[in-house]
Amino acid sequence: MDCKEVGTVLFLFFDNEMEDDLLSPFRDHVARCSHCAQRLAYTRRLLLIVRERCARCCAPERLRMRILTSLPHRGSLPGTH
Ligand SMILES: [Zn+2]
Repeated sequence: MDCKEVGTVLFLFFDNEMEDDLLSPFRDHVARCSHCAQRLAYTRRLLLIVRERCARCCAPERLRMRILTSLPHRGSLPGTH
């Protein structure tokens, strides 16, 4: 596997959708190539941030309602448009 192929299959790795016959050359390459190791670390960090943000703004409706209803009632609730 070369750097270009690593780039192509990188997201499969994070989605746990990588085939076993891809996984070992992928790991081998990342272990040997600092460029791809860095890319892997960067992508991991990026995905963590995205997931965290998403969990925050796409909070389940039930939770959002609980937060909103626990607020003192005023003319308009903060955060609603
Ligand atoms: Zn590489």
